[in-house]
Amino acid sequence: MTAIAMLINGERVQATGGATFERRNPLDGSVATTAPAATVADAVAAADAAAKAFPAWSALGPNARRALLLKAAHALEARTADFAAAMATETGASGMWAGFNVHLAAGLLQEAAALTTQIAGEVIPSDVPGSLAMGVRQAAGVVLGIAPWNAPVILGVRAIATPLACGNTVILKGSELCPATHGLIIEALQEAGLPTGVVNFVTNAPADAGAVVEAIVAHPAVRRINFTGSTKVGRIIAQTCAKYLKPVVLELGGKAPLLVLQDADIDAAVAGTVFGAFANSGQICMSTERIIVDNAVADEFVAKLGERAKALPLGDPRKGPVVLGSVVDMATVQRCNALIDDALAKGAKLVCGGKSDSTLMQATVLDHVTAEMDIYREESFGPVKPVVRVNGVEEAIACANDNEFGLSSAVFSRDVAKAWNVAARIESGICHINGPTVHDEGQMPFGGVKSSGYGRFGGMAGVREFTELRWITVQTTPRHYPF
Ligand code: NAD
Repeated sequence: MTAIAMLINGERVQATGGATFERRNPLDGSVATTAPAATVADAVAAADAAAKAFPAWSALGPNARRALLLKAAHALEARTADFAAAMATETGASGMWAGFNVHLAAGLLQEAAALTTQIAGEVIPSDVPGSLAMGVRQAAGVVLGIAPWNAPVILGVRAIATPLACGNTVILKGSELCPATHGLIIEALQEAGLPTGVVNFVTNAPADAGAVVEAIVAHPAVRRINFTGSTKVGRIIAQTCAKYLKPVVLELGGKAPLLVLQDADIDAAVAGTVFGAFANSGQICMSTERIIVDNAVADEFVAKLGERAKALPLGDPRKGPVVLGSVVDMATVQRCNALIDDALAKGAKLVCGGKSDSTLMQATVLDHVTAEMDIYREESFGPVKPVVRVNGVEEAIACANDNEFGLSSAVFSRDVAKAWNVAARIESGICHINGPTVHDEGQMPFGGVKSSGYGRFGGMAGVREFTELRWITVQTTPRHYPF
């Protein structure tokens, strides 16, 4: 069992009053982590600390910020084994997923470091004689980042890396399901030597999430919020942010379609589907959640997919390498079991896998899924995947867009021009032609449409979210006034 601390104003602290909460291992119920249950006063103290650190951090030169972020990237990678142990214990994730998380998260810090000298403005032609008019990007203030458990290193780092690069100070609100994993990110940033108060870390008991988040959003120094998590909580956070007129980036749920057109390279499509559907047991916002296949190639595709899915190694990640570890909780098992029952009762065919009575869930594929079945529409966020058979490109596009979410998507076709035109018509923030739905890189504009949220992380798109664009003029000649 690990006992962790928060980080407020450079000090590792427990909650005022000493309250804690536990995170238990999803497989055996043993206590994985004990973490501070922050009070509203702790949340305000974190925002105060970040506010105090803001003037000096935002005034620091870009290369000084860059050096610290690069050190943080190295410190993070040096903790790969610790991250793998914490993720296996807290969320049941495989070592492969933990390694990928740390590698990509280090890349996000490197990209943020590269951005520090790219935060440029522009000179804008003015109609006022002698007016030098500029659009100037400045750090916004304190940024609150709220990250989930499912890709904990990537999403915890993503919540604060670009904001820090832009000269903001930050508060990371850790997930109740992986406080120790999120705490390791903070340790790496501390080791890198970020000045006191620039990064703060708060953990809370599940029941206190609303109060803790609102206290920080309401704080006058807090100027931006970003939230990665479910659409349900995203709506609550959007309302809280609206109440205090604070801009928010929302990266929410998904139901990514992967289209296999008649002329697809079937083996490539199967390989992309297996990876996109079953990495981290399907618990990724970009996970392939709807496999939309042209009837002409569906039999061959489904047979090959079933063979590959059946062979994926499953087991307790604390005991050795696996592809499918434990899912995060029994609620996931119950949700997936119910989706399987509902689909089979309405005529779907089980290709492989099936229901589970523990958090070790097999890769499951359901064929002949139709719009009447819950799994056609609802995010499984687990290793249960529907195949929907369609006739032709128009039906495939209509099916892809027949959903409230719009984060990632993919199209497999040997005719790239055709696939390009299909991609253009899919209602999603992201689309990969002949690649999996699961793909992230720090420099790419990452985000969704519809119920998947709004705003973008990554590269210059992230800079736009976490800076204030100001109009500043210098009058260089005598100004003419009408009176
Ligand atoms: P979740 O929404 O249940 O919880 C995330 C956070 O919300 C936690 O930190 C929690 O403290 C906070 N929270 C809960 N209730 C709150 C309230 N009333 N007010 C304020 N905050 C509150 O999400 P989860 O189950 O941890 O993550 C899974 C979901 O996240 C899936 O839907 C997945 O698709 C989505 N996700 C999206 C992305 C993306 O980039 N779009 C990435 C990963 C996961």
